[in-house]
Amino acid sequence: MKKKKIAILGSTGSIGKNSLEIIKLNKTNFNIKLLSANSNYKEICNQIKLFKPSNFVITNYLVYVKVKSEFKNKRIKIYNNFKDIPSKLKFDITIAAIVGIAGLEPTIQFSKKSKKILLANKESIICGWHILSKIIKKNKTELIPIDSEHFSINQLTRNYTDSDIKKIYITASGGPFLRRPLVSFNKIKPNAACKHPNWNMGKKISIDSSNLMNKILELIEAHRLFSFNPIKYEIIIHPQSLIHAIVIFKNGQSKFLYHETDMKIPISNAIYNNRVDIDKIIKTGNNFIKNLRNIKFENVDKKRFPIVTLAKEKYLSKSGPIILNASNEILVDSFIKNKIPYNGIFETLKRVFKDRDFNKYAVKKVPNIDEIYKIDNWARNKTLEIISKNYEKYR
Ligand code: NDP
Ligand code: MG
Repeated sequence: MKKKKIAILGSTGSIGKNSLEIIKLNKTNFNIKLLSANSNYKEICNQIKLFKPSNFVITNYLVYVKVKSEFKNKRIKIYNNFKDIPSKLKFDITIAAIVGIAGLEPTIQFSKKSKKILLANKESIICGWHILSKIIKKNKTELIPIDSEHFSINQLTRNYTDSDIKKIYITASGGPFLRRPLVSFNKIKPNAACKHPNWNMGKKISIDSSNLMNKILELIEAHRLFSFNPIKYEIIIHPQSLIHAIVIFKNGQSKFLYHETDMKIPISNAIYNNRVDIDKIIKTGNNFIKNLRNIKFENVDKKRFPIVTLAKEKYLSKSGPIILNASNEILVDSFIKNKIPYNGIFETLKRVFKDRDFNKYAVKKVPNIDEIYKIDNWARNKTLEIISKNYEKYR
């Protein structure tokens, strides 16, 4: 069998490392053509030694210079910018797993270069789906969302249309603060918010999971990816995170997708087109029946998770999501750096949405890349301005 040429964007992250571990188990079938990372020098060097990729894109300039000098006598090609990689490079599979809006352009670029794209970078869907979807269609690229909820919805609804479907539930674990007394929410520290009860993920998405912002982003992601009426989606709390989506069909049947809380399951199924022996990849508990007995669902408590009240048409349509995403990236970063309290994330988002310039930036129907960055920039600056006005004393 011809080796599959593979690229992993964001190879030093949680999804990236999980993907490499899957590939490591079947190295002879893959040719790791390209990896990309930003600043994790140690992990980048480890990956070069272990996986011998032919190309590495390192976006942080200082780290790029350091790694380049470290491997100057080796055959690997190291670039500081995605724009510099040769146009002739093509891939069978790309795993797009950069975090944040930084993943937008590389994901678009690699959708032109790859037969199949496993998409984790939700920000490129949220902010640039109108661009990405056209490119995927034009290049006949196969797209598999690997965010577990969207991976599940994709699997469950493949042979159905909107008229077959009554409702789609997206499950949320409720994160580490599902039972924490509300009065103590303002004392929440970044380390506590990063400790997800079920999943082991990067810092940003862990914090987004703790206040359910991740679900709002996932709701937008679902609106973009699938052609179902947005009113059919509902977020439901499911503390065990074993069921990732439930689809209620009009024909009286309902289906859900169950898998244990390991991202290697959706990633490896996407790589191997669902034909994979998962026991060769992870240690599953094989506890399906036992686990089903303990599965619980509950409605979202809006007092605990006020961020869900932002799931309004005016914020989720047009370019509103670009603003939501950019503001939230700044807010999560500020919270991690102890510049704002935990509740400051929601409070500031509300202020950004109420800003008199919001409508000026949230109305554009189909922004091109430059316009996306303009809107993104406005939201970042506005958020920083609100933070400096309201949380000066907090620091
Ligand atoms: P991590 O923070 O663990 O990893 C992020 C990766 O992106 C790292 O390789 C990092 O490089 C790289 N990176 C960071 N900033 C930049 C930048 N400015 N330019 C280029 N590369 C950059 O994130 P996750 O793996 O958790 O998440 C990745 C994406 O997948 C996110 O969009 C997330 O929402 C989505 N996702 C993740 C899930 C999970 O289980 N983790 C589940 C579902 C979706 P370096 O480390 O070298 O700085
Ligand atoms: Mg998810």
